[in-house]
Amino acid sequence: MSYQREFSLIGYKSLIEDLFSHGYTISNFREVATESKHLIMRHDVDMCLDAAVEIATIENQLDVAAHYFVLLRTEMYNLFSKRGMAAIESLLSLGHQIGLHLDASLYSNDELEDAAEWEAGCLQCITGREVDMISFHRPAKSLLGRADMLAGRHHAYQPKYFTDIAYCSDSRGRWDHGHPLDLQAVKKGQALQLLTHPIWWASKSDENAVSRLNRFAAGRHEHLRRELARNCAPYREAYTELTDTDEPK
Ligand SMILES: [Zn+2]
Repeated sequence: MSYQREFSLIGYKSLIEDLFSHGYTISNFREVATESKHLIMRHDVDMCLDAAVEIATIENQLDVAAHYFVLLRTEMYNLFSKRGMAAIESLLSLGHQIGLHLDASLYSNDELEDAAEWEAGCLQCITGREVDMISFHRPAKSLLGRADMLAGRHHAYQPKYFTDIAYCSDSRGRWDHGHPLDLQAVKKGQALQLLTHPIWWASKSDENAVSRLNRFAAGRHEHLRRELARNCAPYREAYTELTDTDEPK
């Protein structure tokens, strides 16, 4: 049975192996060459750091070094928390790079340069590494194909990474613009920037987007209740089961 096109952990492994079997080799934003079968693995971590670590572990087993772009200003996770910093440490120890996922909608055009510098600096404090790449979260059309660097850093939508080479994204848990192996540019053997979001892949089998997100939301709710119990005696005493057992994964 082929798992090649399934959105699951097995499907993700199969996708990478299939790209390898078509002659692709892992590259990065610095070294990618347009007319080579270079593969840049980019992940935008929009929702779940735990899912990112699951994907990162599979990649490590396949000797793949990827770029993980993380948000600083999000309600979905907290990089400064114990869990957040542990996830960052895991991604780095598995051989991956961390970049800044910047939500430009939070800033005016005039503020964007300084904001990117500030956010990248904060992220560098967390990672202890230079942050030299930015990707935009849900970018406005004006940012797609923007040639200029931002805060002295390259970004993933510059033409050399976005339009000069093949580009494919799994936005909304689907291949809306076609499967990567079906792209004309890939058939011609051009370099490929493959953007995936870990939340769509971190499951044992294929699952629709809504049920996947409901499962994620239930896990976050459970974690929040355990934190309430840990921090507040009345809640802890009302729900003793929250402190009796280890937190489920
Ligand atoms: Zn995003």
